[in-house]
Amino acid sequence: MKPPPVTLSGTVPTPADLDHEEIAAKLEDVNASEALEWMFENFGSDHYIACSFQKTSSVTAHLASTVNPDARFFYLDTDVLFEETYETRDRLAAALGIEFDRFHNLTLEEQEAEHGPELWNRNPDACCGIRKVEPMRQALSSVDCWVAGVRRADSSSRAKTPKFGWDKRFNLWKLNPLADWTERDVWNYIREHHLPYNPLHDRGYPSIGCTHCTQPVEPGGDLRAGRWTGLAKTECGIN
Ligand code: SF4
Repeated sequence: MKPPPVTLSGTVPTPADLDHEEIAAKLEDVNASEALEWMFENFGSDHYIACSFQKTSSVTAHLASTVNPDARFFYLDTDVLFEETYETRDRLAAALGIEFDRFHNLTLEEQEAEHGPELWNRNPDACCGIRKVEPMRQALSSVDCWVAGVRRADSSSRAKTPKFGWDKRFNLWKLNPLADWTERDVWNYIREHHLPYNPLHDRGYPSIGCTHCTQPVEPGGDLRAGRWTGLAKTECGIN
């Protein structure tokens, strides 16, 4: 059964009312549904919810579409996502009755023609810039707030992730409604609501990105250790 929407009117001020740091502090004390409802109330349709079809996308898509049937979702198609990831996209869309807008940049052939073969091996930052950051910029160019599934428990570099703040990289507000969720919280929610999720999580992939840059992780290993394994790189440049 879907959780009932929660009304926050009167408890959290809008961006026009207060300094954003005060808003951010208040949003730290509300749950994910309440944070999303606040965003919908204050930004209307000028929002976009990013989905990578990892476990947190299942949660965020369900929470957001429950609070607001008109919630807007998008994803970045790098052309080198796992087949299981595309299947998860389709299963989530069918289960929740929602659509995921696709953003895409160069084809692999165009990238090779402009930058040479296998750029992900020679310069993964440049490859992420082309295949992730640029389409992300396109996706966010017409909205005022975006939503990510980043959690503090993902990695040490994400340990101080706020629930709400100004995203300097893309120049808009960013909401991380699951920032304080544990791994157990995520899986409990998925099971409780019988949500589709990426089956690679059951095959040793705690974090899932592009096929060329994602490895399985030994049980108990760092949740993001399988991303760009062997390199200093830990993020693709969008979070
Ligand atoms: S994760 Fe790898 S393949 Fe995907 S965009 Fe980044 S460098 Fe390229």
